[in-house]
Amino acid sequence: MQDWSLFADWHTHTHFSDGTGSIRANALAGQARGLREVAITDHAPASLRVGIKNPLATIRQMRAEVDAWNAKGQGPQLLLGVETNLISRQGDLDLPAKVLKQMDMVIVSLHPLVKPLTWRDGATMLLPNAIQRFTRWRSRKLRNINTKAMVEAVYRHPVSFVAHPGLWIDIDTEELARACVRRNTALEINCQHTDILADYVRVAMPTGVDFVINSDAHSPSQVGRLEAGWRLAQKLGLPPERIRNAEQRGEKR
Ligand SMILES: [Zn+2]
Ligand SMILES: [Zn+2]
Repeated sequence: MQDWSLFADWHTHTHFSDGTGSIRANALAGQARGLREVAITDHAPASLRVGIKNPLATIRQMRAEVDAWNAKGQGPQLLLGVETNLISRQGDLDLPAKVLKQMDMVIVSLHPLVKPLTWRDGATMLLPNAIQRFTRWRSRKLRNINTKAMVEAVYRHPVSFVAHPGLWIDIDTEELARACVRRNTALEINCQHTDILADYVRVAMPTGVDFVINSDAHSPSQVGRLEAGWRLAQKLGLPPERIRNAEQRGEKR
């Protein structure tokens, strides 16, 4: 893997959700690290407290800022994405399909602290996941509900990759990874959480699924900090061809 490197960070936050920096500050940070692409992927509206407010107007404003940066042509290329939340057992996400279609990148996350689509989704999926997050309680039924919801989301929406699967939420990683292979969706190695995510990478690898390695930066100084994920991939023997934001020296992907 010596002559391979990561050319993009496709998961970064700004002040439009719970990040501290601006779009421009993330771009400058990516530039300083020599990245060719940076995606701005703030939390969609269902994230409690931190989700994008007034999503339609805000996303329009974000698009204008992204376009203005890209018009300068100085790199990195900015992509406008969003980190959506799974809000129902049927795989619904917290932005309408027509908005998702306009994004350059759609991430799906199963976060516990999210406004559910219906009270039933809250009572049978999101609330139990929140309880599980903070206790030792485990339930096979909940695991099945989570897995089915994630798989549905991957089938129903144009998902670029699933963020940090296995983080705090109990799912059948192998089943999700198989669905991702069929839909050409990748799984993320999230550099904020490499210690607890190693097991899920080990389980997903034999399915042949692709991965992406991202910082999940919440401040500009974290943009492009991808070393932990890269080290984990090396340790587990993940072939670099299967890391979508990796490229061999001299070859653009
Ligand atoms: Zn966040
Ligand atoms: Zn994130």
